[in-house]
Amino acid sequence: MAIWKCKNCGTTKESRCKPKKCPNCGEANTMEKEGGPEETAEKCGKGSRCKKKA
Ligand SMILES: [Zn+2]
Repeated sequence: MAIWKCKNCGTTKESRCKPKKCPNCGEANTMEKEGGPEETAEKCGKGSRCKKKA
């Protein structure tokens, strides 16, 4: 599990995959991974499991 932080509002979210948009401010592509490389996000992009929860 990774922690994602919104660079816009600072909200953090725990998720396996990179959130498409911030759950708090709704900005797209502002979520950045905290404390690690983003390779898991690349892997998740291929699967469908991560799409159900935005
Ligand atoms: Zn935000």
